[in-house]
Amino acid sequence: MVATTMASPLSFRQLFDRESCTYTYVLADPNRAAVIIDPVLEHVDRDGRILEELGLALQWILDTHVHADHITGAAALQRRFGAPRAIARASGAAADRLLDDGDRIEFGARSLEVRMTPGHTAGDVTYVLDDQSCAFTGDALLVRGCGRTDFQEGDAHRLFHSVRERILSLPDDTKLYPAHDYLGRTVTTVREERAFNPRLGDARSEDEFVHIMANLGLAKPAKIDVAVPANLKGGL
Ligand code: FE
Repeated sequence: MVATTMASPLSFRQLFDRESCTYTYVLADPNRAAVIIDPVLEHVDRDGRILEELGLALQWILDTHVHADHITGAAALQRRFGAPRAIARASGAAADRLLDDGDRIEFGARSLEVRMTPGHTAGDVTYVLDDQSCAFTGDALLVRGCGRTDFQEGDAHRLFHSVRERILSLPDDTKLYPAHDYLGRTVTTVREERAFNPRLGDARSEDEFVHIMANLGLAKPAKIDVAVPANLKGGL
């Protein structure tokens, strides 16, 4: 939990899947030890090529949660690079390492803190970089929005507390990188979301949030019936 004041520089890539509007992230320390967060099956060749071109040694393949809208590229990347897969124990998915709150994912000189942020699903993780300069929020918190709470053991009350107490309690300038954006926005900050998030900003009460989430009227994701069973096995 101790913030590193002299953190080693970080290589960073944000990659996009046009079909599901998913962001995949690659982080690496100066010695090229890398992690990938939320890879998409259809882009394993693209992501693998980037890892190879940058000379990165993949240490961990991470998912923020069991996705309903795309199949994870985790198992396919593991087949190619041999790196272990990790996801929250509470997700119910199979992986080489099942993560609990407070765990650390080490990659070379850097690490990510595992913060459980359930509510979109029962097993959502936010990965917070060691110096708290950035966090990868999955679908718990999106830019000016949040993930839905109406399936996969979603719970608006839990999501409210996860986001307010475990994400928006980070320093104001912490950059927040979501798992999706449907309008092309790539990043936000704690300060921005506290001021402007229409669902979870400081101005909203828990009751208001729960009411909003109960009345979204969203259609079921097209791929949910294939994506969830596959993702419980790492996308095999
Ligand atoms: Fe999701």
